Parts: sequence; structure tokens; C-alpha cells
Amino acid sequence: MPEPATHQLFIAGRWVDGVSGQTFDSVNPADTRDVVGRFQAGGAADVAMAVAAAGEASKGWRATPAPKRGEVLYRFAALMAEHKERLARAMTREMGKVLAEARGDVQEGIDIAFLMAGEGRRLFGDTVPSELPDKWAMSVRQPLGIAGIVTPWNFPIAIPCWKMMPALVSGNTVVFKPASDAPHVATLLVELMEEAGFPAGTVNLVTGSGGEAGDAIVDNPDVAVISFTGSSATGRSIAERAGRRLKRLSLELGGKNAVVVMRDADLDLAVDGILWSAFGTTGQRCTACSRVIADRPIADELVRRLAERAERLRIGSGLDESVEVGPLVNAPAATKVESYVAIGRGEGELVCGGERETAGELAHGHFYQPTIFTGVGPMARIAQEEIFGPVLSVIPADGYAEAMAAANGTRYGLSASIFTQSVNTAFRAMRDFEAGLVYVNAGTTGAETHLPFGGWKDTGNGHREAGHVALDTFTEWKAVYVDFSGRLQRAQIDNQPS
Ligand code: NAP
Ligand code: MG
Repeated sequence: MPEPATHQLFIAGRWVDGVSGQTFDSVNPADTRDVVGRFQAGGAADVAMAVAAAGEASKGWRATPAPKRGEVLYRFAALMAEHKERLARAMTREMGKVLAEARGDVQEGIDIAFLMAGEGRRLFGDTVPSELPDKWAMSVRQPLGIAGIVTPWNFPIAIPCWKMMPALVSGNTVVFKPASDAPHVATLLVELMEEAGFPAGTVNLVTGSGGEAGDAIVDNPDVAVISFTGSSATGRSIAERAGRRLKRLSLELGGKNAVVVMRDADLDLAVDGILWSAFGTTGQRCTACSRVIADRPIADELVRRLAERAERLRIGSGLDESVEVGPLVNAPAATKVESYVAIGRGEGELVCGGERETAGELAHGHFYQPTIFTGVGPMARIAQEEIFGPVLSVIPADGYAEAMAAANGTRYGLSASIFTQSVNTAFRAMRDFEAGLVYVNAGTTGAETHLPFGGWKDTGNGHREAGHVALDTFTEWKAVYVDFSGRLQRAQIDNQPS
């Protein structure tokens, strides 16, 4: 294998080495002999420079008319579309998801960039009548300043774009720390942002570990808002640090998403939806289905069909177009899956999978078989804890009420789905699911970028990404009153009920 290329940080519009001189490697999880690249181990000193650059750039960027900012986003979206295949291949090589899904990940980035480019001509506030005569009342959005963006590896284009696009169009500047398992994709993304014409300092990239670069961003008093997606454990620690500084914080965390299959469901459709949701991206989506709540009369038949199809899924390198399930992202992820499968053997009946896949070339990657347990109790550990791998628990339930109680009986609340042919049951479920995303007759994944994305309960802290509501994370409201009566008018005092 040739010596891997060394990549740099992007600070104040220049590609630079990190202060420490230390680097780390990103490797291909399908073949760990393949080193994707060498990256700067950025730390507090690099973050300080990036924040200073973002602060300097903030003055010009916030003064740039929002439609003009939007034009840069349009150019960036078009560049991503032009480079979609190259970005997708780099993504598959670096973090493992199969090419079709990597293309979808890039497309999500393109979609949100176009959507947010359009926000440059909206950024709506309210204009409302005043309670007093000859007085104008309205609200406007203003940028917060510097946004710290900390992202996971599993959607290495979509998630950074979901965060950076609304941040930038509303006039903030950005310090971006990508996951250490996907620094190459992040570098390619920022190269395109540079080419699109974001002014120097508006976008800064600091690769490096969460504990060093990540914490330095969270702790920096000049960073006004942190947008974080990742595990609940990391989210909790970031929330504590940010809370001490009264910093605005948007968290998108773990999930334990359920598909409910009722006795009147189209079982073939349910099987398609469950397989795609449970084993797509090797179960490593925040919206992955890791629990199926099966109405008892159809439970055995559903499990039989699921197992039959799961056993036939092709495992291998995602760069091979015929492969359906790629590798897990790294060795700790594979170890975590193994330990949960061991726990699962004591909590349910293993129906398929349950082993690493090590045949031939696969021995060089972190491959694991699609695994299904049935007869799992709703409170079992494998039904409660996020495994983030290709492990599905089937939980039998008697009827709608028991199924819904099981579906909602978790501390997470990201995504939920129901398969039923009854319109009444569908509407009950739309009302009853405790989740930020609800699907009817589809799996738990497949959010579109123009509706709010995020979770209830421990999945988040009440913020949403995507849709126009994403702007709420990155803007302050300012209520503006203009009195053109020429006299003192006192709200709540001079407008007594007549
Ligand atoms: P993670 O370990 O929490 O890492 C996420 C990011 O946080 C990475 O950039 C990481 O850097 C950084 N980080 C780690 N420790 C930090 C610290 N102390 N301070 C600041 N930053 C820190 O999560 P992951 O394993 O990459 O991603 C998988 C998780 O993300 C799953 O739980 C999944 O459910 C969740 N997720 C949620 C959503 C959602 O929208 N709800 C979407 C996708 C993923 P390093 O890479 O350098 O450690
Ligand atoms: Mg990697």
C-alpha cells in the first residue's frame, strides 16, 4: 500500500498543519490495510486560532445580505452535485456504508444546501399589528456569532451540512470538528466550501479527537452555539460543559427505534421496510430499526420471513455495488456488537446471524452478520440499549395497546413506524408514538430535509435540525417596536379595555 497523503486543518482560509505536529490515520473499515489518509490531531491551540478566524470573519459575513450568503450556498450545493460520485466513493472507503447509501448521504447534503440557500431570501420573522395606534411591531432573526459544529461519522456529509448550512445562511461563522472516523470526507467537503466562495474564516475545519479539539470548541467562550450529533454519553458531557457557560446547545443523540407490525399489515412490505431500516448502514443509523414489535398472530410468520431474507443479504465492501451490508465502522464497534449478541443469547432466541463474517478478504474488515433475536422482552437490555450494529430484537405483543406501550417504553424517542392497513390504527399511532419522526407503512429511516428532524426524550434536548426550524438553533430573535405616533405610548397601560 502506498504512503497515505497527509491532510491539513483549514483555518482563516488557509490549509495549515496542526500546532502539535501530531497526526492520526483514518482507515478503511472494510480492509484495515488500506489507510485512507493522515490527519492533523488538532487541539486547543488550533481551536483557538480557528475561533479567532471565525470571529474576524463574522463581521463581514453577518453584514453580507442574506440572499448573497444564500448564493454561496447555491454554488456549494451545485459543486457537491458535480462531485457527488467522488464524495460517495470516498465516504464508502472511509466509513463503510454501501455506495448507494453513500450517494444518498451526499444527496441529503445537496438537498439541505439548496433548501438553506433559499432561506437566504426568507429567514422569516413575524410582522404583527401593535396593540397601540401608530406603532409598528415585528421580529427579526439575527446570527449568534460563531457556531461550533461537532459531528459523528455515520452521516459524514449529510449531518455536517444539516448543521453548517443553516448556521451559515443565517450569518454565523463556523468551526467544524468532524468525527475521527471520517476526517477525509470532511476535508473534501470543506475543500468544496472553499471553492464555492465562502469568505476566508467563515468556515474553519479542525480535525482531532473529541476530548481535545471537541472539548476546546465547547469550552471556548467566544463560541456562541454548539450543534452536536453523536452518542448520548458524549452529549451529556457536552451539555454539562455548555450549561456551565449558558451556551446554546442543540443535541441529536441515540435511538432505539421501533417498527410496530399489526396483524392486518402487508407483511411483505413490512419485511422490506424492516430489513432496510435494521441492516442498512449495518444498523449504524441513528434512525435504524433495532426493535420490531410484532402483533402476536403474525409474529412467527414475520420472524420466519425476516430471517430468510436477512440470511441472504450480501456482506462485503460497500464499494462492490452488489453488496447490501458493509462493515462496522471500527474494531470497538465490532466488539460492542459481539458483547450485545452474547447478552442477547440469554435474553431471547437467536434466529439468524450472531457471528463475525471473516471468510476470505472479509477477515481484513469489521464485518458482522445481520442478526435477529426473537421472543425478546420489552425491557431486555438488547431491547433497551443502543447497540449501533446489525442486531434486531423482535418483541411479541398482544394487540395495539401492548405494542404501543412497548414501542414507547424506552428512554429514547427518535423514530418510530407502524405497518397496518387500518386507517384508524394508523392515526392512533401517529398520535401515540413518543418520537420526533413517525412513519406509516414505511421503515424508521428516510427523513426528507424540509421537515424537522430530531428526537424526543433522551434523544435530544428539544431542538430540531432540517426544515426552516433548523434556523432556530442558529439565530437570536429580536423583537422590534417602532412608534410613529410622536407621543409616549405605554403598552399594557395606555391600551385599557374599552
Ligand atoms: P460520539 O462518539 O459521541 O462522537 C460524536 C462526535 O463527538 C465525534 O466528532 C467525536 O469525536 C466527538 N466527541 C467525542 N467526545 C467528545 C467530547 N468529550 N467533547 C466534544 N466532542 C466529543 O458518537 P459516534 O460514535 O461518532 O456516533 C454514533 C452515535 O451518534 C450514536 O449514538 C447515534 O445514535 C448518534 N447519532 C444520532 C443522530 C441523531 O440525529 N439523533 C444522528 C447520527 C448519529 P471523535 O470522533 O474524535 O471521538
Ligand atoms: Mg475509517
